[in-house]
Amino acid sequence: TNDILGKWDRENFFHPSTHLAQHARGETASRVIKTASGVHIEDRNGDKFLDAFAGLYCVNVGYGRQEIAEAIADQARELAYYHSYVGHGTEASITLSKMILDRAPENMSKVYFGLGGSDANETNVKLIWYYNNILGRPEKKKIISRWRGYHGSGLVTGSLTGLELFHKKFDLPLAQVIHTEAPYYYRRDNLDQSEAEFVAHCVAELEAMIAREGADTIAAFIGEPVLGTGGIVPPPEGYWEAIQAVLRKHDILLVVDEVVTGFGRLGSMFGSDHYGMEADIITIAKGLTSAYAPLSGSIISDKVWKVLEQGTDENGAIGHGWTYSAHPIGAAAGVANLKLIDDLNLIANAGTVGAYLKQSMQDALSAHANVGDVRGEGMLCAVEFVKDKDSRTFFDAADKIGPQISATLLAQDKVIARAMPQGDILGFAPPFCLTSEEADTVVAATLRAVTTVLG
Ligand code: PLP
Repeated sequence: TNDILGKWDRENFFHPSTHLAQHARGETASRVIKTASGVHIEDRNGDKFLDAFAGLYCVNVGYGRQEIAEAIADQARELAYYHSYVGHGTEASITLSKMILDRAPENMSKVYFGLGGSDANETNVKLIWYYNNILGRPEKKKIISRWRGYHGSGLVTGSLTGLELFHKKFDLPLAQVIHTEAPYYYRRDNLDQSEAEFVAHCVAELEAMIAREGADTIAAFIGEPVLGTGGIVPPPEGYWEAIQAVLRKHDILLVVDEVVTGFGRLGSMFGSDHYGMEADIITIAKGLTSAYAPLSGSIISDKVWKVLEQGTDENGAIGHGWTYSAHPIGAAAGVANLKLIDDLNLIANAGTVGAYLKQSMQDALSAHANVGDVRGEGMLCAVEFVKDKDSRTFFDAADKIGPQISATLLAQDKVIARAMPQGDILGFAPPFCLTSEEADTVVAATLRAVTTVLG
């Protein structure tokens, strides 16, 4: 029963992103999720919730897809595991590598498989350091990330993540990681700046950082096409084009972290396609399997691959690998997932219903005195709350307005949105199969929750 599970949970389970002491004392709920279908999840009590965040923006094809479940079961029965070292593969992992490269931008050459987004970005940093060592420039190692970027929570990836919460008390960031300005137009210091002026300001900040540090010490720049966990912030017009021009000038590699945007969330196959970004490495995870099994990847460009090939050890290999790289069950889930995305035309749906969701959210909420910004791109949407609209003053952090609104949304209308970890921002990232009627439900419930909490 839930009671015994609740007890075992409190006594044994160390949850991420959960108030440790309160949970251990039983003051926060143990939520036991039992089953799910489409955009709905159901708990052990039979309560159903509309999951407008697709888990952690990962269940892109929606829950309960039997095609993927069957592919996983078939793979587990036939071959649950074999490694991918010394040239080993499975039908699923080899097929998936081909399917990924068929979908990736043209300059991409190979895919290195991992388990999740964090380890994929860890791989990326190692490969970049390796690359510059092979090229005989051992000083060129620093990685530039953006404040509010999210790239994982390991040692180097937690450093890349530009959110203080992931640094403090962990002695991060590591010295090799430096952070530049987030392209967060709504939160610009100078409210008189146009978008173009703000982009010029971001570029100037980057140029100044490169001049200060020395281009010969900087290996790469990493960024999400749309800032995700840092607040769901699409870039201002022209941002990526301008940033890429600077990176090219200084021979700095571009890592595009597409853990959230890869395989359709913006209504394009990749965020790189969406914004005309030419990546040297692309990180993929979540949407690769729609989270039916853990799997990630680093898609490596021809330019990087050609260098890596030259610097191998006496076995022709590089000293980096995970036991579960290209795990057959993850790979089988990936193959079935990418097929389903094609067969059901889900990327187009993410684009059209995502645009409808954003428009409806703007129509319903923009006039509210405490709604500062409603923004989004594809199937990503965010509402930002402010104490005062003109000055864009934040609420006091202690008021926890974002968490209050998401809790109210859940309690009143059983809709799940995410209170983003920094600032009072409510985030939406539904499965791509969301219908416009379901989008209407999400918007109406959000308006009701906002009105309940803020009047
Ligand atoms: N990169 C981005 C853009 C992410 O959003 C995330 C997770 O949310 C990660 C990397 C880390 O992925 P994981 O949690 O699978 O390690």
